[in-house]
Amino acid sequence: MSITPLMPVYPRCDVRPVRGEGCYLIGERGERYLDFAAGIAVNALGHGHPHLVKAIAEQAATLMHVSNLYGSPQGEVLAQRIVDNSFADTVFFTNSGAEAVECAIKTARRYHYANGNPQRHKLITFKNAFHGRTLGAISATDQPKMRDGFEPLLPGFDYVPFNDLDGALALIDDETAGFLVETVQGEGGLTAGKPAFIQGLRKAADEHGLLLVLDEVQCGYGRTGKFFAHEHYGIEPDIMAVAKGIGGGFPLGACLATEEAAKGMVFGTHGSTYGGNPLAMAAGMAILDVMLEPGFFDEVARKGERLRGALEQLIPNHDQVFEEVRGLGLMLGLKLKPEVDARGFVAHLRDRHGLLTVSAGENVVRVLPPLIIEDSHISEAIEKLSAGAASFWTPGAAGS
Ligand SMILES: *Cc1c(COP(=O)(O)O)cnc(C)c1O
Repeated sequence: MSITPLMPVYPRCDVRPVRGEGCYLIGERGERYLDFAAGIAVNALGHGHPHLVKAIAEQAATLMHVSNLYGSPQGEVLAQRIVDNSFADTVFFTNSGAEAVECAIKTARRYHYANGNPQRHKLITFKNAFHGRTLGAISATDQPKMRDGFEPLLPGFDYVPFNDLDGALALIDDETAGFLVETVQGEGGLTAGKPAFIQGLRKAADEHGLLLVLDEVQCGYGRTGKFFAHEHYGIEPDIMAVAKGIGGGFPLGACLATEEAAKGMVFGTHGSTYGGNPLAMAAGMAILDVMLEPGFFDEVARKGERLRGALEQLIPNHDQVFEEVRGLGLMLGLKLKPEVDARGFVAHLRDRHGLLTVSAGENVVRVLPPLIIEDSHISEAIEKLSAGAASFWTPGAAGS
């Protein structure tokens, strides 16, 4: 037998983390890394944050799981707190981002069904999108690397280029339920929706009786310097999927909706055994205790500006490597020159300079630090990026 006990679906690198301390990860051999990947935008409070650790430990000792057969005092307070701080009137808790997207798709279809329009089942989605790996979520993207070999997929999705408002409007027909879109594309290459695009989708949804469904699994929860990325655009969605930062590393996701959009989600229409269990709710509460402190998001925005400014200053000094800076807040991307492979450069930064980043589509290196970084971490990352760009060209020094 040659298959590994861990199903070999991930091309894992040689870093084998065994401990985390704030913004650093420590590997099996004791080596330290500055973690500007943050578990792919998950570890919003870094590693081992005392408030999060304590909340999880205490809840684990008190009550971990009971199922959704019983009342949930823990879920009620967290849902209320999210409702109080967002567009939403109601929240369904999941264990992952893809499940939050699934719930969003189901909520959108069910809305039109409840309105007596069951034919309105199609969501207009966008090229290069990433919504997760369930069959529903891979049906909502056009990316062959996620879809090949899994057909037949779920019908009911149309794809147009991201930021192409006219293209999206042209696809509206009498079977359209709404739009499903990342406010800022993550895996696709850190492209922010243009204001006219996001606002135009909102306007079209209102005019045609459609739903605007946002996927803020990656860009929500403080990542862009506001609680939710759509706040930068002055609009609100009808339905929204969030996850990643919401649990700070504890598996948690949520589907948020207005009362109107959730009108079809009545008893028995949806469920999850683990979703919203007391342990997950304790993690979610601890994250909000920190994030909803006055000034937290402003600090993320300030640090995002500082990091962006420093990245922009790197470009002229290393213009053989870097092309441009993309993204919002602390969800930043460095687009590399076509001659430099983003995966290779990420490996080089990791192996030679102890800096963790993540590659994304369109040859972009994602820079996604914990939201609690300090200015000193920004300086350290910039030094490593600068040294990494310089050494990338030194014969024999390049990474794999
Ligand atoms: C990561 C991600 C998902 C999927 O989340 P999982 O927790 O991996 O299921 C969905 N949408 C976006 C935008 C993401 O970045």
